[in-house]
Amino acid sequence: MRRYRLLVLLMLLALCGCARPVDEMAPYRPAMQHAAQGQLDGLGRMPRYDIRVRVDPAAEQQVTGWERVQVVHRGRDVLGDLFFRLYPNLPQYSGSMFVGGAAVNGQTVPFTYEAQDTAVRIVLPEPLPPEGKAAVEFSFGLRVPRREEGYVLCGESQGILSLPLFYPVLAVRDERAGLPLWRLDIAPPTHGDVAFVQAGLYQVTATMPSGVVVAATGTVVSTTVSSAGEGWVDLHIVGGPRREFMLILSPQFQTASTDACGARVTSYFLPQDQATGQAALQYAAAALRVYCQHYGPYPFRDMAVVSAPIRYYGMEYSGLNLIGLDLYRQQRKGLEFLIVHEVAHQWWYNMVGNDPLTYPWLDEGLAEYSTYTYQKARYGAEAAEALLEWRWRGPYEYAVEQGLDAVVNQPSSAFSAANYETMIYAKAALFFDAVRREVGEETYYRVLQEYLDRYRWGEATPADFLAVAKEVSGHDLGAIYQQWILTALEP
Ligand SMILES: [Zn+2]
Repeated sequence: MRRYRLLVLLMLLALCGCARPVDEMAPYRPAMQHAAQGQLDGLGRMPRYDIRVRVDPAAEQQVTGWERVQVVHRGRDVLGDLFFRLYPNLPQYSGSMFVGGAAVNGQTVPFTYEAQDTAVRIVLPEPLPPEGKAAVEFSFGLRVPRREEGYVLCGESQGILSLPLFYPVLAVRDERAGLPLWRLDIAPPTHGDVAFVQAGLYQVTATMPSGVVVAATGTVVSTTVSSAGEGWVDLHIVGGPRREFMLILSPQFQTASTDACGARVTSYFLPQDQATGQAALQYAAAALRVYCQHYGPYPFRDMAVVSAPIRYYGMEYSGLNLIGLDLYRQQRKGLEFLIVHEVAHQWWYNMVGNDPLTYPWLDEGLAEYSTYTYQKARYGAEAAEALLEWRWRGPYEYAVEQGLDAVVNQPSSAFSAANYETMIYAKAALFFDAVRREVGEETYYRVLQEYLDRYRWGEATPADFLAVAKEVSGHDLGAIYQQWILTALEP
């Protein structure tokens, strides 16, 4: 009898839609693993991007798009304007991006180009108070370069069209110094990551020719025939919280997939790279398993490892790792460790962000030192020690001899191409190694797990890392920090 009454009550509740709160995170749930669904709660103040884009690799202007960004003002002052970055206009990207029109809450607003055309400023029709909301719309277009060879992160080369940050992205407002400031940095042209972006939520409809194979920083929830005409399809892609959205596509891409840490890992490669494309898949899956075990779960349903025309370099995106074509071919020896490094950025860059222009060493050092964790887990302690010697200690000692040692805790603009990698990767990795030896292996991973829990989807600073490390380990790491991060040795 009691059970019958309960059943009637449940049926009545189910019929009464008004009793159910609207799940505003529903569109993003397909991108997240079941166990990570709870991470979406409390993200209502994140920027939400709704993007519709037409990508035509054969057209002079390859990208035509529209977006709506829901912005919640998270600062303490009243805003009269907003800035969005147009990263493809950076000299190192050599794209040509424009905004056709802008609107706020449905009302057309004026805009101006700023920071060498790498940003647009829009004037708000009404001032935005703290916690105020605005729906900002843009129409935009982008032409990216076509090159036969070389490093092409943004553009088309060797049959691959790579489109990082192809839409206007909300600029970061830095309130650390007590003086609110829009960050409109122009990164050094020769080294370092260029984009400082806060995590957002994404829904994208990408219209493109039906023959191309696309890798995206998200989960494709459907592919439908497009109203754009015969031979065109609409891909509906969603991304849970992530630093950015990017698309990379080729009519020649082949794919292979496997499962790791609850995610579907997919390798995208050109037909002539089939064997290395398969190897790349196995390395990426193995790295994912090692990091899930040591750092914490991987939250997304998908992760991609994609060959790209970026020579022998790698580049991290949210849920997507670009690996240079040379590593599938003449530089095959470096393939495993480059992938292992990039996959670590899914934790130290994507989940725990940091300002990559002011503190490039924080995520790069951790991603780089993660290869030690991988090496030890897969090949044993001796192999990990050998890695430490040839990959970091040797190059660092050589840099000291050459008079190239520098204070690590500096912005990327303070380094030259000659010592950027040795300082930001090798010397920073040696700092994390010193931390691990000081606090002990088990405690070291507890520090990183706590660092992840506390700063997931936010941005951390070196002081934040040190505070967590001290709190969890009980060790004062001041001397180690001084030695590796704040001191430069004379030859
Ligand atoms: Zn890196």
